[in-house]
Amino acid sequence: MHYALDDMLYYNIKNPDEIVSLERAVIDGVSEDGGLYMPQSIVRLPQAFVRNMGNMSLQEIAFAVANFAFQGDIEASVLRDIVHDTLNFDIPLRRIDDSHYVLELFHGPTMAFKDVGARFMAHLLRHYRSLRHQWPTIHVLVPTSGDTGAAVANSFVGVPGVHIHVVYPHEALSYVQEAQFATLGDNVTALEVNGSFDDCKRLVERAFVDPELNEALHMTSATSINVARILPQTFYYFYAIARLARQGVDVSDVVFAVPSANLGNLTSGLMARAMGLPIKRLVSVENDNNIFYNYIKTGYFIAKPSVASIAPALDAGNPTNMPRIMELLGNYTEIRRMIHAYTYHDDMIIDTIRDTDRRHGYLLDPHSAFAWQGLCDDLRPGEVGVALATAHPAKFAATVELATGREVTMPPQLLRFLNGTRRVTPINNGYTSFKRYLMAFAE
Ligand SMILES: *Cc1c(COP(=O)(O)O)cnc(C)c1O
Repeated sequence: MHYALDDMLYYNIKNPDEIVSLERAVIDGVSEDGGLYMPQSIVRLPQAFVRNMGNMSLQEIAFAVANFAFQGDIEASVLRDIVHDTLNFDIPLRRIDDSHYVLELFHGPTMAFKDVGARFMAHLLRHYRSLRHQWPTIHVLVPTSGDTGAAVANSFVGVPGVHIHVVYPHEALSYVQEAQFATLGDNVTALEVNGSFDDCKRLVERAFVDPELNEALHMTSATSINVARILPQTFYYFYAIARLARQGVDVSDVVFAVPSANLGNLTSGLMARAMGLPIKRLVSVENDNNIFYNYIKTGYFIAKPSVASIAPALDAGNPTNMPRIMELLGNYTEIRRMIHAYTYHDDMIIDTIRDTDRRHGYLLDPHSAFAWQGLCDDLRPGEVGVALATAHPAKFAATVELATGREVTMPPQLLRFLNGTRRVTPINNGYTSFKRYLMAFAE
């Protein structure tokens, strides 16, 4: 088969002979055998670009990176609009002291970092639909322990030709978290499963490989198994380095600390590095769901049932992006060299939130506090560290207030959801019920 040179193609990690376009990779999410897609080649950005980023805005940097990554797949003017609309909010870099910084990724509509990837993916689908005469309704199945559902639902609400099914565990989410997607209506259904988050993941994974369902419906994923989520998350790594360079910081020794669940954010950091961004290493920080930490320590990747914590978006028992990390770094030795891993119990992180507030006057949400603690423990003299703050402290106000003894004010962005009417479809945790629910959408 022949492809034009400038088409960026994607391969299935489980079966590298299966090569698809970006459009296919985004619309399908995963391949039929459940394999994740990866770009066939990762474009290295010109070093002159990396050196000169300091003078560019977030949107300019993001557009330049996207334009390199998608190499002519999407027309530049369209891509510029997509990027500008995706990133219509700030990503401030806060300086805590000479060597420690926090990159606030939570100023989007749902106040969590997934807004970046989810909005980008929604724009891509909207674009692809505009190019097609025929378009079957695409059903996006989103298992969520909180933040993903909110980010995806808010990014896709009102997008024609797409239906969002948020699949979440009964009584595991905060009231605000549920309200963020259950009050939207329109093309968003809130499906409340009488079970755990792992049950939700299992139901969705099984639906994706169910031949009968695939025959009847076009389903896809908007979790970080979708490449459309991973690619835009490289933007803010570039932006952080650009900001540091602009402030006169020597950027040859920059370390990023990431609060990890499905390792999507970490994968994006590795991808940014593969694109030529000078990242010295990444620090992956987990709660008691420490599958990746154990892998780094022992070389064995052993999934286990997730346990609930004060940072629910980190409660993943089988990190889905592990195959991408293997592809990007090649082997265990290299993975260990490039990524340092930490794990903390909840009580330690409560102390971290309290101490950071007292000592630096900076309020961390529990997820960001995991990253911050990992950064503090890992950073060596002479290095500069950036902790990725993934959620606004007000999203987890109860925990933050418990830690600091101070009241957290609710930003208007979150308050607006609380007044809406919640509409929820309850189901049990059996696959038969889930399938019956989905089958009713067959056209
Ligand atoms: C999803 C999420 C994470 C984890 O990101 P992964 O890409 O799954 O590793 C961390 N913090 C918050 C607030 C999240 O929503």
